Amino acid sequence: MLGFPTPYPNELLYSVIARTGVHEGETSPKQLLNSVFANKKVIATVDLPSHVGRIADQYPKSLSLSALDLIEKHTLWPIYAPFLPNDRRKSVEEWMCDRSQGAAHLASGIVASRVLAKRVMLMCHCCLQQHEQEYGEAFWDRRWQVPVVDCCPIHGALSETDIRKNGEHRHAYVSVLQSKIVGSHPETESSKRFSELVYQLFDSFVKSSPSYQQWTSFYRNLAFANNFRNGKRIDHQLIRSQFISYWGKDWLKKKNLLPSTSDTSWLRSICRKHRKAFSFAEHITAIRSLSQGQMSTVQALERALNINERCEKKKAKIIAEINTLTVDQNKWLSLVLEYGPKSARNAQPALYARLYRNNHDWLVNVDKKHKLPPVSVNRRVEWSARDSVAARALLDFVRRVENDLSVPRLTQTFLVHQLNNSATIEKNLCRLPRCTAILKRYTESVDEYQIRRLTRAYISFIESNTMIKEWVLLRKSGLSEVRMSKVVKEFLGEIVRDGKQCKI
Ligand SMILES: [Zn+2]
Repeated sequence: MLGFPTPYPNELLYSVIARTGVHEGETSPKQLLNSVFANKKVIATVDLPSHVGRIADQYPKSLSLSALDLIEKHTLWPIYAPFLPNDRRKSVEEWMCDRSQGAAHLASGIVASRVLAKRVMLMCHCCLQQHEQEYGEAFWDRRWQVPVVDCCPIHGALSETDIRKNGEHRHAYVSVLQSKIVGSHPETESSKRFSELVYQLFDSFVKSSPSYQQWTSFYRNLAFANNFRNGKRIDHQLIRSQFISYWGKDWLKKKNLLPSTSDTSWLRSICRKHRKAFSFAEHITAIRSLSQGQMSTVQALERALNINERCEKKKAKIIAEINTLTVDQNKWLSLVLEYGPKSARNAQPALYARLYRNNHDWLVNVDKKHKLPPVSVNRRVEWSARDSVAARALLDFVRRVENDLSVPRLTQTFLVHQLNNSATIEKNLCRLPRCTAILKRYTESVDEYQIRRLTRAYISFIESNTMIKEWVLLRKSGLSEVRMSKVVKEFLGEIVRDGKQCKI
């Protein structure tokens, strides 16, 4: 068909076809169906129409109006899609592009939803006047037809028209100008809040849906963050009273959203593990009241999509595990998590023994799971080169002091500390074979050191030509006979005797 009208912002596809009839002067609905779809049996669907591919074909390529664009911008799909699993979204979009035969309504949950479909089409009179001023003609805005919505966020209460859906107008696309106003809904604060949240969903179409797991975690986190908890559990009763006080009992009843007090009420189910999709109206009202009026549905969708499923699963598993363990098991788990099984066993041998007796399989399993990785050997350092340099420095030092009787005892620590990088050398001796050999060879034993001290004192007596007495020699060398080994005593005996001989 030539000159098929381009849709206005938020205009229903239904409305575009109705305008086509007006533009073409086509008064017969069947004839209109035939010229648009080449099919006289198409039903004039307002919310999720099918055969959208055929409508997209009416437009020149330059307008870039694909079937998916039309579905996103000119049907009610944006309020259903974000709450359906991604694979189902894809199927519904395919049915809408082509034939649906009711499948789109079934799969999107509209048929089974607690949210009542509107029987007639609604409109905002003030918006219509704005359309006339801005575009020169009026059209049906898709947002007026959303179930539960009965208020324009800008102008207030919507009006009911005489255009009944699925009635006598089943195959007719009726222009908004041909409709008559037959009544209106009273505007309430709750209607206004709800409409605003719905309008936001149309403004920012969320292209991916959170999984059931993400929704489960999202609601749990939201309930806990807002203190709807009783210890570790969600307080469903508190959630229900907050929900009713936020939205009002009358409004909820009227919209069929009042949750029952039973354990299987929809509000309880949405705060538990998600096993099925919930409707946009259930999500919108629950999120708004749980967040105490702070979070929009679009923000909630973004937050749910950001939840890392694997991380949440692990967290839930650990919490579940901790709850079923004994005091000993919990204690062991925290020790093992912090220090590894080996150190935990050294620190708490009695606890280990008890668990070994009572929970053997569990213990083996936990230890295996938390075994620390072996300490990796750092190969970046050229240990061989470092060994040569340090060994040479050690040898130089030993040669410098080997004739000096006054140096302190040549222990391993003393020798290593003469090097520039003593801490590294001391820690890595296992990687330094040359240094180890030198240290082994030149380290002085206690006996050797005591003998050196005696020798030093003896030589000083000889040099000063003094009479050598055993007790003076011991005092000068800072030694006591009590702490001397047999070898040193023998040496002492010898030098004292020799000294006497020498002196006499
Ligand atoms: Zn309005």
